[in-house]
Amino acid sequence: MTRDEIIEQLAVKDPAALFAEADRVRKENVGDAVHLRGLIEFSNVCGKDCLYCGLRRSNRHVGRYRMEVDEIYATARQAVALGYKSVVMQSGESCQYPTDDMCRLVARIKSDLNLAVTLSIGEKTRAEYAALKDAGADRFLLRFETSSEKLFGELKPDSSYEERMRCLGWLRELGYQVGSGIMVGLPGQTLAMIADDILLMKKLDLDMIGIGPFIANPQTPLEGSSCGTLDLTLRTLAVIRIVTRNTHLPATTAMGSIDKQGRQKALKCGANVLMPNVTPTKYRAQYQLYPGKICIEDKPGDCFLCISGMVKMLGRTIADDPGHSLKR
Ligand code: SAH
Ligand code: SF4
Repeated sequence: MTRDEIIEQLAVKDPAALFAEADRVRKENVGDAVHLRGLIEFSNVCGKDCLYCGLRRSNRHVGRYRMEVDEIYATARQAVALGYKSVVMQSGESCQYPTDDMCRLVARIKSDLNLAVTLSIGEKTRAEYAALKDAGADRFLLRFETSSEKLFGELKPDSSYEERMRCLGWLRELGYQVGSGIMVGLPGQTLAMIADDILLMKKLDLDMIGIGPFIANPQTPLEGSSCGTLDLTLRTLAVIRIVTRNTHLPATTAMGSIDKQGRQKALKCGANVLMPNVTPTKYRAQYQLYPGKICIEDKPGDCFLCISGMVKMLGRTIADDPGHSLKR
């Protein structure tokens, strides 16, 4: 699709045909199996001050936590017990774990638990990314958030678009399976910008793409801004599926948080991945990037039951492999 065609689809009056085509392309390229990645939100300490995010360092309303390395390991073991073949370890940025400790943890999870390990811990030096890769990390998620340099600069005052792109380049060079993505409905974001985001995703030849609606957080400077809609998020997802064919695309928690059926709808228009939360319940309420996040009172086993039921209801199956990239 050209840029104009993408813009046209994002604005199309009735998206039914777009969604049907995305579902067909999903089935043809990645099949009916849904991959589950257990999500461990291991620390909400963050050194950055992104305007949109509830974990930003200036937010004094959050009680900060930092799980001990042994507790993170025990949580990964619980993910195995629930049958997950892969975990995503996510946190705020610069949350004060020495790289050596993180490397030992990743190596231990890899050797003892045989899980595919995805990190989502923000911007690091090339040497740190390299050490974590050597320790066994398989994948890295780092959303570029928006391809508009201007908007990026406004929303992430202590980072730069250039640095984000440099990090994505390093991750690729180092042999990670690379995931990136955006928020849909950011203040000031236009359909043309989303079209550019999608073209950039294609150019970066990403292994995984995670998107979600922007949800305004009252504890941030973007309090009162209008939020992204599920409708535009699903249109964006569908176009991404059609344009990038066999990329792994999650139905994200943010989609499920703005609409009870958000993730189910996403699975029907392009998504093939779900990320059940395995974070210990006591920490969940404090890991709120945005308000209204689902599952904060649930236990890891509850999330497994909910998600496996969802997959079954849709007539799909749960994948029994770690769901590595289909790109390379
Ligand atoms: N600190 C890491 C990972 C945690 S944030 C990082 O920034 O990369 C993970 C993602 O949450 C971000 O990439 C962003 O896209 C999303 N996010 C943050 N605040 C949000 C909000 N208010 N609404 C929707 N998504 C949000
Ligand atoms: Fe920190 Fe990531 Fe939130 Fe930015 S988006 S404030 S880096 S946790």
